[in-house]
Amino acid sequence: MTAIAFIGLGNMGGPMAANLVRAGHQVTGFDLSPGSLAELRTAGGTSAMSAAEALTGAEVVITMLPAGPQVRDVWLHQGGLIDVLAKQGGTRPALIDCSTIDVASARAVHEAAEAAGFAMLDAPVSGGVGGAVGGTLTFMVGGAEPAFEHAKPYLTAMGRTIVLAGGPGMGQVAKICNNMILGINMVGLSEALILGERLGLSAAKLHEICAPSSGQSWALTTYCPAPGVVASAPSNRDYAPGFMAMLMAKDMMLSQAAADGANSPTPLGALAASFYQAVCDAGEGRRDFSFVYQWLAEQDRAVVTK
Ligand code: NAD
Repeated sequence: MTAIAFIGLGNMGGPMAANLVRAGHQVTGFDLSPGSLAELRTAGGTSAMSAAEALTGAEVVITMLPAGPQVRDVWLHQGGLIDVLAKQGGTRPALIDCSTIDVASARAVHEAAEAAGFAMLDAPVSGGVGGAVGGTLTFMVGGAEPAFEHAKPYLTAMGRTIVLAGGPGMGQVAKICNNMILGINMVGLSEALILGERLGLSAAKLHEICAPSSGQSWALTTYCPAPGVVASAPSNRDYAPGFMAMLMAKDMMLSQAAADGANSPTPLGALAASFYQAVCDAGEGRRDFSFVYQWLAEQDRAVVTK
């Protein structure tokens, strides 16, 4: 049994922490939301009054926060996790950030941790809330190999595929590339479903034909954005997330910023990013990102292609 501090118990972090409890670990969590803390207690964990309190005696520290600013805030600010751990002394816990954030923030946290004598990993995930609940997430990890090997048993308790992508920040590089593929794919799939329907072909029939064909994708077979086709998809629960459109918009902007920095051409990524931003601007950012299908269906062709 290992003492694990888990900060950020939202849609993803909550079930990830619960899986660590199920694997026999002693999990102490902190979140700004009292409801999330109550859920951790129900799952068998312990809630702390602050992130610093959760660190007491921790052998592993995991964060699962919304974006770069929260990760910098929690890890780097005065009284932040690295500060508190450095003052605590004793054994040096494994440090793992699972949030999806910009590469620069991930590397800033790595550098601060290293300067204080800790090994840090960026370990963003793929697989959504279903993967978090089922313990089947994919972890894309950046950091040193010994730290990766040390963290692997804990990541295995929450996921099925654990891959060392490379050095500091490389987990985030893998993650933004993966989500750019998904974000573009969901828009393309939505366009095809809407086109088929307008030409008289139902979404269910198109799904039946494309799922075993070259148009196959995770978005089509697991997460179909048209309601009434894949029972477990968010489209069948009025687009309750799942993965919020505002988080997809964030990830698409992360890949756009990275592409600018690397002078890498991503015209489809840029267009798809603008659609998720438009979904957010329409006040629908807290719905699942597959809501982009409904947003597109409401657009005039002349408006979105000009
Ligand atoms: P969420 O908003 O449900 O959870 C984030 C949690 O962090 C919230 O409970 C919030 O209260 C807490 N929090 C924020 N600031 C805090 C602070 N200073 N101290 C303590 N707690 C704080 O988001 P989520 O869906 O769980 O996503 C978390 C991360 O995982 C994001 O980076 C997201 O991009 C990534 N991700 C999400 C999914 C998904 O399907 N939801 C899939 C893969 C990756």
